[in-house]
Amino acid sequence: VSYSLDVQYSSPASENSSFKPGESALISRIRARSRPRSGELTIGIGDDCALLKPRSGEELAVTTDLSIAGRHFRLDLHPPDVVGHRTLARGLSDLAAMGARPVAAFVSLGLPGDLTVRQGRRPAWIDLFYEGFLKLAQSHRTPLAGGDLAESPVALADIVLIGAVPKNRALLRSGARLGDALYVTGSLGGAAAGLAMLQKRARSGKRSSSGRMNNILSPHLYPQPRIAQGLWLRRKGLATAAIDLSDGLSTDLNHLCEESGAAAEIDEAALPMHPAASLDQALHGGEDYELLFTAPGAARLPHAIEGVPLTRIGEIVKRRPGRPAVIVRRSRGTVPLEPQGWQHFS
Ligand SMILES: [Mg+2]
Repeated sequence: VSYSLDVQYSSPASENSSFKPGESALISRIRARSRPRSGELTIGIGDDCALLKPRSGEELAVTTDLSIAGRHFRLDLHPPDVVGHRTLARGLSDLAAMGARPVAAFVSLGLPGDLTVRQGRRPAWIDLFYEGFLKLAQSHRTPLAGGDLAESPVALADIVLIGAVPKNRALLRSGARLGDALYVTGSLGGAAAGLAMLQKRARSGKRSSSGRMNNILSPHLYPQPRIAQGLWLRRKGLATAAIDLSDGLSTDLNHLCEESGAAAEIDEAALPMHPAASLDQALHGGEDYELLFTAPGAARLPHAIEGVPLTRIGEIVKRRPGRPAVIVRRSRGTVPLEPQGWQHFS
């Protein structure tokens, strides 16, 4: 994997960077905390490129994701460690959806100058960003292998995640077949409910937070990518297709049906709704980062995978021209489930 920019955090004082003295201390700290795992990442931060050495019989999974202030996060709403956590979580969740094991992460930041310096006794925004990022990276044994820093009028974070998966064994969106059952991990709508709470709290100007409020906010602020569950599904060979829920059930299930050339019916009563979520948030709210997957109807799946509950929510049915790809069964009749993609803050 080559790196298009000429530094691996190694030279913050390069000509196109306005980062100040003290930044090399930051980079040393980042480097110290991102010790590469032996074997697969032979060279990490500090050289012109990172060097990866995939295990034999594996192929690499690569995903990239751009987060921009005002669109994917808000500086006035999201603490910096939350932005760091969420940036990495988005990438890890894509690896989880493919059943891939994380190998290395690369993150590039464009930041207004004031986010790179200490504010009185408070650490700089960028330090707290890396704190949130590296905490999640450590819990998924994902080394930070490089990236770039530059001054930018708008804060942005660009993540690249490299994963590995045995050849021809990655979970794809396209494998769902007639008669397969549909499953989802965890609960739905929690992130949308948390975001609504966060926005409400910001409007009212309140800053205090109770334990209950933290429980409601946490799926939005600290989503947990389902790496262990994706690996489990891939190892067991039970899933025929999979996708992560980044844009909401309605949108992502439509993607899965589209790629598989299939249709789906789900039961409204079966949806594992987050206790704080409305039905609308469960069906259309984005950023839950749960896994949605299919398995043969006769396959026996556990009630939980690696500690996360698993729920059967419907089946794959035949696709018929002129009929919606996804239908929700309610107590009285059925309704089509149109994709209502996640709108971020636009
Ligand atoms: Mg995805």
